[in-house]
Amino acid sequence: MPERRKKRGPMIDFLLIGLIISLTTIILVIILSKDDFKFQKISASKETDTNSITSNLSTESSAFPGIRIVTDVSNDKRTPFAIHYPETDNKAFNDAVLKYITDSKENYLSSMKKNKDKEAMGELNISLETFPYQKHYYSFVLTKTLYTGGANPDISTKTFFINHETGKLISIETLLNNDENNLSALATYVRKDLQQNPKLKEDLFKDDVIKSTEPKWSNFHRFAIVDSSLQFYFDEYEIASGVAGPQTVKLPLSLINPLLASEFQIAMEKPTKPVNVGDPNQKRIALTFDDGPHPKVTEQILNTLDKYNAKATFFMLGSRVQYYPDIARDVLARGHEIGNHSWDHPVLTKLPLEQAVNQYTSTFAEIEKAINHKPTVFRPPYGATNDTINAQIPIPVVLWSIDTLDWKHRNAQQLLPNVKNNIHNNAIVLMHDIHQSTADGLDAVLAYLQGQGYEFVTVSEILPYRQK
Ligand code: ZN
Repeated sequence: MPERRKKRGPMIDFLLIGLIISLTTIILVIILSKDDFKFQKISASKETDTNSITSNLSTESSAFPGIRIVTDVSNDKRTPFAIHYPETDNKAFNDAVLKYITDSKENYLSSMKKNKDKEAMGELNISLETFPYQKHYYSFVLTKTLYTGGANPDISTKTFFINHETGKLISIETLLNNDENNLSALATYVRKDLQQNPKLKEDLFKDDVIKSTEPKWSNFHRFAIVDSSLQFYFDEYEIASGVAGPQTVKLPLSLINPLLASEFQIAMEKPTKPVNVGDPNQKRIALTFDDGPHPKVTEQILNTLDKYNAKATFFMLGSRVQYYPDIARDVLARGHEIGNHSWDHPVLTKLPLEQAVNQYTSTFAEIEKAINHKPTVFRPPYGATNDTINAQIPIPVVLWSIDTLDWKHRNAQQLLPNVKNNIHNNAIVLMHDIHQSTADGLDAVLAYLQGQGYEFVTVSEILPYRQK
């Protein structure tokens, strides 16, 4: 092979090189002169060529009809980036998204240009999450991680909420029916959520929280509807120290439903009587969970209940609700009943009456503060109560008819046998949502009871049948 090369004259080499140079020039001119689908020229500054970066742009369809995901990647040595953003058939929406993306890139490239350390490597990453809501609403959450040579990356969030049918962007003003009163109520919820978050205690910038949650529309522009909550985003350092990172406040839709314009409201479940009222053949059972909420166990139980479309009742301790108000809200948002189980689980009959009643009232207040709803039933710890105490409690005092002894055996396999051996119609089953074994054994219990034709109802729903 080297023999053959040598035979080619220097003139031919020269011509070939000339041809390659001309072709490359022509191709470059074509690329740079128009915005092609595959390539895009980004200029942070027109004066120099150091900031001209060729990036790879590709568009793919997504799991959501009519929504495409654009990926924009550059492997540039000093200023690499990876960006994902949504695209629809609506030009106004696409322009708004692209403006954010272009601004982000230009800021990044110009910051890197200003960085004197020419060895320093930057990074820009914009990730995208898409959340559908109802028939044709979508929330897009773009999370930007920007590193321009400082000690830590900056993390910030940008959101877009659209009606996919009309293609239009929807603002927080529209979502709240352009009503300042709704805005004030919402601002109060967001502020309380931040101030009462036990994980933020030390790290919260108290004055900034007040400022960032003043009832101004501009304070609430970063929002998304994710599953059954309206979420608001706060950037790193905006309201808390870097240790705490960026913050998301989640308000259950069931809580803020009255603040939303009617087209965004959820259909609230009415606590109506079961469909088969008076049907003596309808089997029903009320599952109850005491001593929570618990960040892990309660959530697992909620997921299992959802799987069987089962409603249950959670008797909560005030002392735990104060630490986990989010979970209490989630329990309510998912259609369950919330009961009062005292503040910190004492034997009420051994306390002076005033203290016993205080256990009830303080928990009542804590639950109402957390979920914006009053607890509807009361269960004394250990079932220990008397007529004097009961006379002070204005809501039904409810014990149980099947004790699973889950607190004692702590065995997931033992939960079902203990229910099965004591099963009867209109039973109230006692369990605890603080033991992992209870959460693990629940699926088998629900599968069995459903197979036996039981309807899963709340305590308030089953009480009329028990009093007969
Ligand atoms: Zn208890």
